[in-house]
Amino acid sequence: MPFIRVSDLVELQDLEDQAQALRDEAATLEAELADESSVGQADEQLHAAKEALHRAELSRREAEQGAEEWQAKTREEEARLYSGKGMTPRELAAMEHEIVTRKERQRELDEDALLAMDAVETARTDRQRAQVHAAAVKEERVGRVAEIERQAEEFRQRLLALEEAAARKRALTSPSALRAYDRLRANGRRKAVARVSRGTCAYCRIAIPNNVLQRARSGLELVTCPSCGCILYVG
Ligand SMILES: [Zn+2]
Repeated sequence: MPFIRVSDLVELQDLEDQAQALRDEAATLEAELADESSVGQADEQLHAAKEALHRAELSRREAEQGAEEWQAKTREEEARLYSGKGMTPRELAAMEHEIVTRKERQRELDEDALLAMDAVETARTDRQRAQVHAAAVKEERVGRVAEIERQAEEFRQRLLALEEAAARKRALTSPSALRAYDRLRANGRRKAVARVSRGTCAYCRIAIPNNVLQRARSGLELVTCPSCGCILYVG
């Protein structure tokens, strides 16, 4: 039966704390691995840019078609005007006026078609930018995933080694000391064993009375901090 050595508990606590820190880090990596939001966001932006370009192209087509149709109709009327067939002077004058009005409208329609063309150019540039951005985000993600997997594997190996070392340490530690240690750990507190530095408990920062300190110094019995209950270790 191993006798009580508080130093065993300190070493066990260090090993188990390191293992827990690794598990926490691994959980953070797992969460990052599961989070595809950056790629999803870039894809959404690209999708929106493609739709905007599609809409701009439709508008341009409509504007150009409108301008062309208007022009064709004006030409027809001009041809009728110049032939002057079967028209009274009053009808001719009305038609001339109509053609002037139509040409004014034509300028507006042509201007609209030009603006629609500019809008297509802008939308095309936006889509290109979104494509480049999405590709860069994906490439970065692939690199990051590879890095995370490499790190996770390294953590697994280190965790395994720590768990084995902790198990070996437990096998060599006095069962009564382990029970006390595990009880304190199970309470959910951060430490079961507290080092004493300059006569003060490192966990609660309160000074240890001299008689308690004397007993703790041997390291061969479990002496607890009178204020926080940690097992004291004078190293
Ligand atoms: Zn304390």
